[in-house]
Amino acid sequence: MHNLSFILNKPYDIEFAERPHPNLSGDRDVLIAVNYTGICGSDVHYWQHGAIGHFVVKDPMILGHESAGTVVQVGSAATSLRPGDKVAIEPGTPCRYCSNCLAGRYNLCSEMIFAATPPHNGTLTGFWVAPYDFCHKLPDNVSLREGALIEPLAVAVHIVKQAHVTPGASVVVMGAGPVGLLCAAVARSFGATKIVSVDIVQSKLDFAKDLASTHTYLSQRISAEKNAKALLKKCNLTGGADVVIDASGVEASIQTSLHVVKMGGIFVQGGMGKADVSFPIMAMCLKEVTARGSFRYGPGDFKLAIDLVANGSVDVKKLISGIVQFRHAEEAFKKVKEGAVIKILIAGPNEQVDDELSLDSSGKGIMTKTAGIC
Ligand SMILES: [Zn+2]
Ligand SMILES: [Zn+2]
Repeated sequence: MHNLSFILNKPYDIEFAERPHPNLSGDRDVLIAVNYTGICGSDVHYWQHGAIGHFVVKDPMILGHESAGTVVQVGSAATSLRPGDKVAIEPGTPCRYCSNCLAGRYNLCSEMIFAATPPHNGTLTGFWVAPYDFCHKLPDNVSLREGALIEPLAVAVHIVKQAHVTPGASVVVMGAGPVGLLCAAVARSFGATKIVSVDIVQSKLDFAKDLASTHTYLSQRISAEKNAKALLKKCNLTGGADVVIDASGVEASIQTSLHVVKMGGIFVQGGMGKADVSFPIMAMCLKEVTARGSFRYGPGDFKLAIDLVANGSVDVKKLISGIVQFRHAEEAFKKVKEGAVIKILIAGPNEQVDDELSLDSSGKGIMTKTAGIC
């Protein structure tokens, strides 16, 4: 049982090495063999820069946090799971004792131990130990590959909950990367009837329309106010959108958002980009906009994400551009950096796949291989 791991030493310096096989550290722990891991923008950012904000990679760190796996061993008190169960791994363990944890906002726990956030190792490894209640059992009709998409879907669920999307709402989502696409899909499943995806890449908008959006808007190189006006006109959103979600982190999109949201509407910042931006605070004030942040996921978000996949509301298979073997993980990172794919999954070191994505870098466009491979 190999515990080969994908380790970041410093920017662009990757190493594959065997790491000690982890053991259960308490009777509520579960040992999981990792089957599939999706590559996230944050993993790529650490690989390129060795840091995100004040999180700096000082010692070698295993990357990855979007994983699904198979239960191998359970502690005596981990009664809800059995060896052989397929699970989506929730990759952050909170302290459970601080005021935020006790208030049910464990994503805001200051003692959070989160995978692939320095100094903590991630899940691009053979085996992973986690508390049983952070390993979410996948029903029979949800595959392990879909299971690796549950983490980003839970991020989207949390964002859309923060946006208080209600039946009949109009929702504009800035950015059609994985999280923006998933926000659009979750908004639709929450009953939104007009869902507008916005991006600067037409092929991503085409994809959004195929997945969930009712309308799209190709952002222009004009002022935020003008973009907002053109968007509202094109999408017949007189008076503005009920909800605007920024899933891009781009300053111009954030500015446009505040001009797109209606009087008294809701704006949620889901994307992370520059730490500081110029923000149209006058529009926010005059329109009495409710603005919220959104960070990772909290109670019930993983469960709902799994339910949305299981009941067919969100087809996460469509987002999987391809699968690569573990030994090709670094090439997969390069693909994600090039923007050539939506979501690449890395098969765990103990997982063999026979439908590997070809990694020659000739394929332009956002999908080198399309859906339906789960
Ligand atoms: Zn992520
Ligand atoms: Zn806590």
